[in-house]
Amino acid sequence: MKIEDNKVVQMHYHLTDEKGTVLDSSQGKEPLAYIHGVGNIIIGLEKQLSGKVAGDKVNAVVAPEEGYGERDDSLVQVVPKSGFQGDEELTLGMQVQVGTEQGNAIATVAKIEGEDVTLDVNHPLAGVTLTFDVEVVEVRDATDEELEHGHVHGPGGHHH
Ligand code: ZN
Repeated sequence: MKIEDNKVVQMHYHLTDEKGTVLDSSQGKEPLAYIHGVGNIIIGLEKQLSGKVAGDKVNAVVAPEEGYGERDDSLVQVVPKSGFQGDEELTLGMQVQVGTEQGNAIATVAKIEGEDVTLDVNHPLAGVTLTFDVEVVEVRDATDEELEHGHVHGPGGHHH
């Protein structure tokens, strides 16, 4: 069975950036399961998996525009430390929730300098060319319930 829209795909994957740094991997875990064609995974990877079958190995290089987008410098802001409440100490790389015009977003603490805290609302993988080493484990039809929910049930997916 080929990978196409509305198929459930189980895959093992190993994700690295341009420098070969491992960002994520399913190694030692159960395969990741997703529904093809419904936006469960980034479009650049989905495109390169189309038409593949169980057992296929795919080396997919995904540019930022088909991954997590380009970095947007307007999403980097300096705010006063006093604006943060709570007793948790701010640390570099920490993720905090911030209110934006588009609603709540997750920001990464990019710099702390005296009372100035630099927050970056870009996705941590924005601007990064991603390399996925994928092994397709299984391809099956999605059930009506899975299509209705927009996610996979059972192994590698949501457990109810
Ligand atoms: Zn569900």
